[in-house]
Amino acid sequence: MTPASINTDLFQNPDKSLIFLASDRNEYTYQNLYGFTDWLLKKTEGVSFSAHKPLLICSPSSDEVIFLISACFLLKIPFISLHEDFSDSDAEKLKDQIDPALIYTTDENRFDQTFTASNLQISNDELLRTADFNTTSFSLHDPEQIAGLFLTSGSTGTPKIVPIKRRQVFFAAQASAENFKPGKNKYWLLCLPLNHVGGISIILRSLLYGSAIYRVDKFETEEVSNLLANHREFEVASMVPTMLINIMDDSHFQTHPKFKAILLGGGPITLELIEWAITRGIPIVTSYGMTETFAQIAANPILSPSGMYSPKNSVGRLFPPNSIEIRNDEGAALPLRESGQIWLKGPQIFDGYLSEDLNEIVFDENGWFKTGDFGYLNFRKQLFIETRRTDLIITGGENVNPHDVEQVIETFPGISRSAVIGVHDKKWGQRVVAFYTSDMDQIDETELKTYLKKELLAYQVPKELIRKDSLPVTALGKIKKRELLRSYRD
Ligand code: ATP
Ligand code: MG
Repeated sequence: MTPASINTDLFQNPDKSLIFLASDRNEYTYQNLYGFTDWLLKKTEGVSFSAHKPLLICSPSSDEVIFLISACFLLKIPFISLHEDFSDSDAEKLKDQIDPALIYTTDENRFDQTFTASNLQISNDELLRTADFNTTSFSLHDPEQIAGLFLTSGSTGTPKIVPIKRRQVFFAAQASAENFKPGKNKYWLLCLPLNHVGGISIILRSLLYGSAIYRVDKFETEEVSNLLANHREFEVASMVPTMLINIMDDSHFQTHPKFKAILLGGGPITLELIEWAITRGIPIVTSYGMTETFAQIAANPILSPSGMYSPKNSVGRLFPPNSIEIRNDEGAALPLRESGQIWLKGPQIFDGYLSEDLNEIVFDENGWFKTGDFGYLNFRKQLFIETRRTDLIITGGENVNPHDVEQVIETFPGISRSAVIGVHDKKWGQRVVAFYTSDMDQIDETELKTYLKKELLAYQVPKELIRKDSLPVTALGKIKKRELLRSYRD
């Protein structure tokens, strides 16, 4: 690893008078964070933390959670933040991998059956403390130390536990500073959950940049549109594509002239969404990343009508100093413009799941991480994401990218959302099956089929169309295709 290439000038100890966190109710400065950190340091005296014995957080989004995660980072206490609905039986499954040293949860009795650690109580007074905390811990000591444990979204099965090292946090923050470093006292809008890399990476980046977070309890289209349109303090926001799709319904939406960019990522981004944003002059940055890379590891410059040098459907170039290769199923490197699996290597990439038996499958002997995503690089090394390796459909020897088919289905009047999967077929190996939802009473499937035949290549046309009341999705709105396949078989 090369911690020497971290640009230490980028990370200034934030001045204590600067805003650290705000919402529609509260505003806290860095002095409050330092006061809280000092309190947590005393509170945890004698508690011994490690990757397997982290501080466990299980709470709805709150100011306390943001204080805790930030203070843990300053104090080098490994943390894990779980979804508020995480139950004792879910926790039971984690038990052979983690045994928390301390628990913060809003429901005191939660995990009583599973873990023995005591509960940390945080009153509002703790957030209002002030102190001169020595922030030399911002220096790059312990790049190999585990900052926290992160659960993947569980789109393809049971969520995996990813230990994230401090090194990854620094490299990720450094790489995205150009696009995303808000000014002092300027906000990064945090409307993502605080138990996933998307939300937590905002907290840690903001801390390293010395900028401010504006927290909303949960994503409400009207509130978020209003904040971004009318308030000059907002410079950056992170969203998953479904959030911006909801904002698209507001035909008057415009971001404030001082606003810099909406960071979009975490799942497939439709061309329709990108085109809408570009034509309306809404600055978006499309990106690619995952829990294992501590969020974005490739991103475009801000897409705008004047900056269209970047192909719209690319997710940009990989962040240096990380490396990317496209490999075939046998592990051989493929030339530019050929599709294959995305393999990654470098300081922003994790070193292995907590559950070690998975690591043999996902790393090759030279330390390359096989992402499970399928894509290609063009001759300018811009990356295009096609689909997950497991979602790619091969029918009669032809590759079908389900997203290409979904995008066409969703342009048919009345279709709300669609999901295309490959199911086993004796003759073709796999056949294309499409599920869709609609708000209308009736969808004329004969017309839909005619439309799809016109718009798609013959082998891409779904052999079956199945209407559903809803599609199974993760907390961040990604479709769980494995679950659909199971329901199809049952
Ligand atoms: P699990 O690993 O548990 O199945 P997950 O992979 O969905 O869940 P995350 O780490 O939250 O969990 O998501 C990362 C994945 O999201 C990537 O591996 C990729 O498949 C998808 N993704 C991220 N950005 C994009 C993008 N711009 N376009 C298409 N897919 C994307
Ligand atoms: Mg994954």
